[in-house]
Amino acid sequence: MKINDNFLKIQNSYLFSMIDQKVREFKQNNPDADIIRLGIGDVTRPLVPAVIKAMHSAVDEMGQESTFRGYPPAYGYDFLVNAINKNDYVARGVQLDNDEIFVSDGAKSDAGNISDIFSVDNKVAVCDPIYPVYVDANVMAGRSGVLNDKNEWSNFVYLTCRAENDFLPELPKEHADLIYLCFPNNPTGMAISKEELKKWVDWANEHGSVILYDSAYEAYITEDLPHSIYEIEGAKTCAIEIRSFSKTAGFTGTRCAYTIVPKELVFDGVSLNKLWARRQGTKFNGVSYVTQRAAEATFSEEGKKQVREVINYYLTNADVIKSGLSQTGFKAWGGVNSPYVWLKTPDGMTSWEFFDALLGKANIVGTPGAGFGPAGEGFFRLTAFGSAQRTAEAVERIKNLF
Ligand code: PLP
Repeated sequence: MKINDNFLKIQNSYLFSMIDQKVREFKQNNPDADIIRLGIGDVTRPLVPAVIKAMHSAVDEMGQESTFRGYPPAYGYDFLVNAINKNDYVARGVQLDNDEIFVSDGAKSDAGNISDIFSVDNKVAVCDPIYPVYVDANVMAGRSGVLNDKNEWSNFVYLTCRAENDFLPELPKEHADLIYLCFPNNPTGMAISKEELKKWVDWANEHGSVILYDSAYEAYITEDLPHSIYEIEGAKTCAIEIRSFSKTAGFTGTRCAYTIVPKELVFDGVSLNKLWARRQGTKFNGVSYVTQRAAEATFSEEGKKQVREVINYYLTNADVIKSGLSQTGFKAWGGVNSPYVWLKTPDGMTSWEFFDALLGKANIVGTPGAGFGPAGEGFFRLTAFGSAQRTAEAVERIKNLF
């Protein structure tokens, strides 16, 4: 028996485990410290009343023989797929067939699992910095090659996102088969315009590449920017889109997401839609009825209003963080179309040095940019998912420190 030794290549500690460990140690040594967590991207506001009501009534249905449900359909109940199609796509001028929508238990699982349907020989392009799941999933699948001394995988194409370019990646200078894009971006908080996204769609169509487009944060867009890649002409022949209810409606603990695989995605005569349907049908058994009713409720009139209030709450926090940092002399990005604020560390500190300083002196937990890739070194991410009061307090502490 041999193990999949690609797993051994994954760097010894996943970013957030490392942060947890450091915070645990700090707490042991400083039991009275009042720590404010603006690190991990988890939400803190409760589920909205419309969602809770829908969940309660779905639970009641599960307790009656006449309305009990067993295994859900592998790709989602019609009521939810219809609601997604109507509200997230038709409303934005995008026409999709319901069987192009695959409901799942998370954007993380989908972003990791989608690589199952592609050959191990494909060249993968990733932005740098990046949400680490895309990289690690492809390392596990055997597409990475070896790690060099710059902390880059030899077989990946890196699309460096630089401050001078507002952290938008440049088109690849070499061939890439699979391109991971995420907008609004985690970690930089920056979004992309239709014109810029069109360049990626055109490039992918020209080169026979597939874009894996993660728009888990589209609900945070406040400016006139594309929410879906399918708002761009030509995207259906080159893009798969991954969405989530996690940050849109506080479902990080409830778990519901979906992935769009258009039927126009046909390579060597093979439909990617059919491959993903086969993959999900084999390895995934659907999302619970209660959860799908909960997700459906986010699209009701009251659900939409309530969810919007929560998003605005986080966006206000983001503005408090960003403007507080800017007043203190920090260079900061994001926070306008995103719950993330990305800042340049002061005085040439490394990301982890800044992490230690912020934790040690202000008892604030953030996320070191270096954890998102080599180009994240010298940057730091703060999230707007805390309470308004604690966020304001954290900003005051930072102001007093620097
Ligand atoms: N995609 C991005 C870019 C994320 O930042 C996250 C979570 O932080 C996810 C996906 C995970 O979403 P889910 O909770 O649906 O698994």
